[in-house]
Amino acid sequence: MNTSRSQACRLLSEGLTAGYQDRRVLENVDFRVAEGRLTVLLGPNGSGKSTLLKTLARTLTPQRGRVLLDGQEIHRYRTRDIAHRLGVLPQSPTAPEGMTVRELVGMGRFPHQRLWRQWSKQDERAVAEAMAVARVADFAERQVDALSGGQRQRCWIAMVLAQDTDLILLDEPTTFLDLKVQVDLLELLVRLAHERGRTLLVVLHDLNLAAAHADVLVMMRDGRIEHSGPPEAVFTAANLKRVFDLDAEVIHASSTGRPVCIPALGSAASPTRRQEELPA
Ligand code: ADP
Repeated sequence: MNTSRSQACRLLSEGLTAGYQDRRVLENVDFRVAEGRLTVLLGPNGSGKSTLLKTLARTLTPQRGRVLLDGQEIHRYRTRDIAHRLGVLPQSPTAPEGMTVRELVGMGRFPHQRLWRQWSKQDERAVAEAMAVARVADFAERQVDALSGGQRQRCWIAMVLAQDTDLILLDEPTTFLDLKVQVDLLELLVRLAHERGRTLLVVLHDLNLAAAHADVLVMMRDGRIEHSGPPEAVFTAANLKRVFDLDAEVIHASSTGRPVCIPALGSAASPTRRQEELPA
């Protein structure tokens, strides 16, 4: 990945092979997460995106190869030390029953607390800022399990932001969100990277949202990284066909110059066919 090779890299994998029991999902993956950038992982269902994220977050132990965090093998760290450096939002997290939004977001501060230093002004500030940024402050005292899917998702994002780490890994954070809220969230992630120097690795489903916001796009298929680089280089009709088996035209948005894909219509959707099917 050209964008990251020349820069320092705080999180990377070398020869990573990982999976579940005797099932191998990732095959010999070398991956460097670009510093201070928003990297988006794309790939068909089952291509290994979550497995890669989990292995980079130390939730899953590699079968072979290793993950290095700040130059040291991630499995050598104490959990608390990892939580100081790396914030992780897994897919479909569940909150303890009855927990309020403020309490959930406050959980992001656990790694910063010690026996002799309980809740501090700094914790308070971090929680308030995270809630404002993720726009959950208006319902801070409500119970998480009584919220809509989209509101709940924003609470989890606020929790990760409250953790205040330089490295943030998010697995499909835009699930359940309205398109406008998805765009707002992605703009927030871009700002975190570009204005605050955070390093973000995010799994997304929506190809066009990914192409519109990512600094680096990584396309996975069958447990391997097939393409990696800036969207202009990676988001091509040929790569979409190869990775997703998707027939699509790729054009460029006039406002941003970013690539956008338009899936080809099957014959059933062609205007002539529709005309033919209309009652006389
Ligand atoms: P993606 O995130 O790209 O959809 P995953 O990394 O979730 O892909 O899954 C990759 C493969 O690993 C899939 O075939 C999936 O069924 C399998 N898999 C995922 N999680 C588990 C698990 N906990 N146990 C066994 N197999 C799993």
